[in-house]
Amino acid sequence: MNQLIDEVISLVEEVRERKKFKAYVLTGSGISRASGIPTFRGEDGLWEKYDFEEVATYDAWVKNPEKLWEFYREGIDLILNSEPNNAHYAVAKLEEMGFCQSVITQNADGLHQRAGSKNVYEVHGNLTRVVCPNCGMKAPFQYNAENFPPHCSCGSLLRPDVVLFGETLPTDILSKVFSIAKTANLVFVVGTSAEVYPIASLPHLSKRNRARVVVFNIKKTSHAQIADVFIQGKCEETLPKLVEKLVQKE
Ligand SMILES: [Zn+2]
Repeated sequence: MNQLIDEVISLVEEVRERKKFKAYVLTGSGISRASGIPTFRGEDGLWEKYDFEEVATYDAWVKNPEKLWEFYREGIDLILNSEPNNAHYAVAKLEEMGFCQSVITQNADGLHQRAGSKNVYEVHGNLTRVVCPNCGMKAPFQYNAENFPPHCSCGSLLRPDVVLFGETLPTDILSKVFSIAKTANLVFVVGTSAEVYPIASLPHLSKRNRARVVVFNIKKTSHAQIADVFIQGKCEETLPKLVEKLVQKE
């Protein structure tokens, strides 16, 4: 592993010698697993008592918003009671040290911001926030038994500020992250299953535009196949090792 970390350091140095150093980190559910956040479709079974189609899809929102809210409230509780782990802190440190300019995440848990990351693109939204489909008001979710499922002051039912399955991703953020991916010359892919499109295609797009790709993942995904360096293992253990070495070199 140390040898692989050294390979990443050489890559970073090589890219840094070019005029513009443009790097981003792409993260997925694997980075939050050590914080106790299960993946919705994951093997951990925490959501097994719910039928996914009934609670997390756009159809569910239209047909039975109460049930959807019951499900999300449980998820939000879990998030609010969890903490960022060493991988989130390592990502924040990369940004702080100038080794990446943006974090693109598929997670809706807000843990990157809590770890100190500043420039975060949440392509699937943020579960700890509510949004009003009527007036557009956004606010942190606060449970109130007398207003649950929560309603906006305009009278409309609020919804979690996340992209539900069956909905398309917001076009503004999508065009932003695609432009980041296109112009980057280095990408760190951390803990993403590489299965959820179109976001999973970002590293491929970067690669086609000659970016170097470094992948940290427990499993060998399709991203590992295009990686210049693939570091297999738990990202909360591997990523901090890279950051540690980068700090020593500064
Ligand atoms: Zn409203």
